[in-house]
This record gives sequence, structure tokens and C-alpha cells, in this order.
Amino acid sequence: MALPLHSCQYDVIVVGMGPAGASTAYELSQLGLSVLAFDKQVHPRNKVCGGGLSARIERILPADFKTVVDGTVYRVQFAYGGADSFIVEFPQPVAYMVMRPTFDQWLVEKARQVGVEIREDESVLAVQELEDGVEVATGKGRYRGRVVIGADGAMSVVAQQCFPGRRVRNIPALESECHGETPHAFQHTQTALISLRAAKKGYGWVFPKKKGLSLGVGEFVRGANRPKRSFEDFISHESALAGLSIPSPLGHPLPIAHYQANRRGHQWTGSLVRHRAVLVGDAGHLVDPLLGEGIYYAVRSGQLAAASVAATLRDPKRGLEEYEKNAEAEFGLEFRVASRLGAIIYGLPRACHWWAGRTFPDTYQRMLRRYCELLQGRETYQTLWAKILQRLKGPFGRS
Ligand SMILES: Cc1cc2nc3c(=O)[nH]c(=O)nc-3n(C[C@H](O)[C@H](O)[C@H](O)COP(=O)(O)OP(=O)(O)OC[C@H]3O[C@@H](n4cnc5c(N)ncnc54)[C@H](O)[C@@H]3O)c2cc1C
Repeated sequence: MALPLHSCQYDVIVVGMGPAGASTAYELSQLGLSVLAFDKQVHPRNKVCGGGLSARIERILPADFKTVVDGTVYRVQFAYGGADSFIVEFPQPVAYMVMRPTFDQWLVEKARQVGVEIREDESVLAVQELEDGVEVATGKGRYRGRVVIGADGAMSVVAQQCFPGRRVRNIPALESECHGETPHAFQHTQTALISLRAAKKGYGWVFPKKKGLSLGVGEFVRGANRPKRSFEDFISHESALAGLSIPSPLGHPLPIAHYQANRRGHQWTGSLVRHRAVLVGDAGHLVDPLLGEGIYYAVRSGQLAAASVAATLRDPKRGLEEYEKNAEAEFGLEFRVASRLGAIIYGLPRACHWWAGRTFPDTYQRMLRRYCELLQGRETYQTLWAKILQRLKGPFGRS
């Protein structure tokens, strides 16, 4: 039996209400468009994630986001196995910690409050492009809109159906939440730990939360593929985790921005916009390939997409491609530099941390500090890369 077609035509249909979808829907509704949004789950829902937000996110979120912040990080400890750690400390926040069920629900409520119609527990199964819009089918009905936003995460149905043949790169990442009966000493240090020894070609992290610790590993370079073993090694060797009983980790693909696919200049064309379909957040593979940070880019891509969709629906001469151009301008070169740094750091972790740290400790400490300034929004990957090149000239005699 054919599913009923809902008579109402929306300006925009948003698929997925994580940070990307909720931000896009909120902005679109604020811009005066009618928005219908779906999520296959019911908020508050869990998402496998460390829940670390770089402090620069405060520039793009409504100011009251701090009501859902679960901890603030002022210090970052960079470790490499038994070698000495480098600690970088600031008077201003480097990162905010959130619990994803609470943070995502807060974003969804923001969207609901400005008039977005939200249907939870309704999974989008198919998207069909029509001449003048799109038709979205769920298990419960068919809905029409002028544009569809794919904000449905790493395994996006919208991307699979509307962007066939797209090159994607998912890396394995594991995460565990450790909520002990008694608070763990690390919880109150306002410190995030990054261990370069934890994964073969990636890193391990420990983040402090109110009720415990979030920890995990991600492997960023092709061919590593042993995240479970890395996780076991990490929790058995990391002194900050000593004495803790750590629940088994959960895994989820992390869709990092693909440097190879972006290297030849215009490769982004068609990877975020096709006809009347637009991808944001993880669905668009907008995840930093060095750190694996995705929430900042999910929110920001949602804002960029909403502005272009609203402008295009008012003036079709503008074109949805404007979003792709703006995203490329804001993230493209950043991701390329991050990817280059990742190849060096994860390819040669011992040389980067152990050797460089011992041989040029002051320079190395300064670089780590600059990296934290990037998380604060005071540096970019491009300015950081320029400074690294300049520094390298010093030790090797070229001024
Ligand atoms: C182990 C791990 C640790 C991470 N740690 C961090 C971190 O500390 N900081 C950080 O910034 N990033 C981190 N990330 C990345 C971050 O989780 C993602 O980048 C972020 O969640 C992307 O948001 P999104 O809205 O694009 O997708 P999601 O958060 O995945 O949201 C997608 C939504 O779409 C819904 N959905 C999916 N399919 C459908 C469908 N067919 N129909 C309807 N709804 C659908 C889902 O239910 C979900 O609510 C981590 C990722 C992993 C795997």
C-alpha cells in the first residue's frame, strides 16, 4: 500500500537532528522558512563521542550554551608513553566538555522554539529528487520540500541516495564513558589528556566530565586498523586511568575530510551540493582530519548551508553551490593543512613528540601552545603551518 503523501509542502526538509541538522533547522527557521525535520531516534539520545568542543565554538553558538557545558578545560597534557609530558595551560578556556544527550537535546529544543516542526522516531528511508523539489519517504509517510538537507551523520542515507559515487573516508574510533562511584582525581584537573602513543596511527584522549571521564582512541592513517587493541593498550598503560574499571568502548565511524579528494583544487564541487540536496556535518564528511573534531564543523556548516539555502529560495539566480564555495573557502585549506600535519604526526609520532620534545623542548612547547590557541580560535591551521615552517628553518640554519 502506498504511503500517504502529506499535503503540506515545506521550504526545507532536514534529515537528522544532531548538531548539524539542529543548527541548520534553527537558522533556516530564523530566516523565515518553513522547516520539517526528522530524526530516527528520540532526543535525548546518545551518540558515541568524546563531547569535547574547541573553545572557539562560543563564537558560533547562542551565548546560553554554557548552561549545558559539563566542564571547562584550561590545560592540555600531551603525552607519549613513558616520555615526559608537555603541559600547556591558559587563563582562558581551551575547550568545553558536553554530554551529547544533553547538548544535542538543547540544540533540538532551540530549533523547536523558533518553529521547526520536528518528527522524532521517524527514519528517512528514501529521497527522490523531483523537478521542482524533493520527496522524502519515511516508514510513516511521504513529504515534499523544495530542498533537502542531509544531516544524518556518517552513514547518511541522503548522501548515499543523492550523491552516488562520492569518495568517502571513515576512520575507526572507539569511546567509553567511565562514571565511577567515587570521583577520579583526573576529573577535577580541568585538563584534557592527548596521548600520541595510545594508537598506532592516531591518538588516545581522556576528557574530564562532571560525573566521570570520557576516553577513547581514533586511528587517522590508513592501514592502522587495530582500534580495539589500541584501546586495551591505552587503558592498561595510561597512568591517569590507573585503578579505574572502564566499560567496554563503543565504536562509530569518523568521516574525516579527505585530503586526497580535495588536493586538486575544485574537488569539492558536487560533494556537498547536488541539485536540491545539501550535506552538512558528518554527512558531508566535515571532520578535522588531525583531531577528529566534528561538532564545530557540524554547527558551522549548518549555518553556512542555511544562509545559502535561504538566499537561493528567495533568488534562484544565487544557486545552492554558494554553500559549497563558502564551505571550501572556510574549511578547505584548513583541512588540507590539518591532513598534512596528521600524515607527519601520526606517521612519525616518536620523532614528533619524543625526539623533537627532547631536542627542541622550548620550540616544541611553543608549537603545542599555538595548537591550543587554534582551538581557542586565535590561530588557524594555515598560520600554524607557516610558523612551523619558519621554526624549522631556525634549527636547520636557514633564517
Ligand atoms: C569516538 C568518537 C569521538 C568523537 N569525539 C568528538 C569530540 O570530542 N569532539 C568533536 O567535536 N567531535 C567528536 N566526534 C565527532 C562528532 O561526534 C561528529 O562529528 C558529530 O556528531 C557530527 O554531528 P552531525 O549532526 O553531523 O551527526 P550526528 O551527531 O551523527 O547526528 C546525526 C543524526 O541523524 C539521525 N539520523 C541518522 N540517519 C537518519 C535517518 N535515516 N533518518 C532520520 N534521522 C537519521 C541520527 O539519529 C542522529 O541524531 C567524535 C566521533 C567519534 C566516533
